[in-house]
Amino acid sequence: MSIASNITTVKKQLPPHCKLICVSKTQPTEKVMEAYQAGHRLFGENKAQELVAKFDALPKDIEWHMIGHLQSNKVKYIAPFVTLIHSIDSIKLLLEVNKQGIKFQRVIPCLLQVHIAHEETKFGFSEEEVLEFVQQHEHNHWKNILIKGLMGMATFTGNKEQIRNEFSALKILYDKLRGASLPANFQITELSMGMSGDYSIAVEEGSTMVRLGTSIFGERIPK
Ligand SMILES: *Cc1c(COP(=O)(O)O)cnc(C)c1O
Repeated sequence: MSIASNITTVKKQLPPHCKLICVSKTQPTEKVMEAYQAGHRLFGENKAQELVAKFDALPKDIEWHMIGHLQSNKVKYIAPFVTLIHSIDSIKLLLEVNKQGIKFQRVIPCLLQVHIAHEETKFGFSEEEVLEFVQQHEHNHWKNILIKGLMGMATFTGNKEQIRNEFSALKILYDKLRGASLPANFQITELSMGMSGDYSIAVEEGSTMVRLGTSIFGERIPK
């Protein structure tokens, strides 16, 4: 199957409020161009260096999403152009994003990554930490970040019930935030959940952004 037809097939399965982020990590720029020529503009990368390299090499109307763990010292490289950082997993990182936002005179849209999986390795806030965080009011002063919602990754398992429960818990937290009165730099409209193996469940549970690599580009070639 071609990249173009994979995109068409997936988009047909997504409700109108759900966006497709094509995850192009490890893929050469020619593959990204194939998707671009099919009309696609939203791409995700999980490493700052690769994100910058692809931004430099590819058309400037692409919207670049940072979806992987981001070290504070790398924020400055992506701050000038990144469309959305899905993977804010600490207050320290958020402060650095705000600082770089000030430096580059832009408001940088972010999602808080929530640890929903029953696995040790996944980064993110706990649900309690997210609720605690939104109740503090000092982030009123962080004018160069805009918190647009939440991101989560389900456990890597064949147990569909477990995956559904994890996504459902994240949706409940998302709805809680949407119902709360929040500072001006919170505008909760995005719930980023779903990868190639589990996106149909994520969509049923209310995802507004799925991040798909393998279903669009095929298997990644190991380095
Ligand atoms: C790689 C990656 C994806 C896409 O994974 P696929 O299984 O290839 O769809 C989604 N989200 C994050 C955070 C990733 O690192």
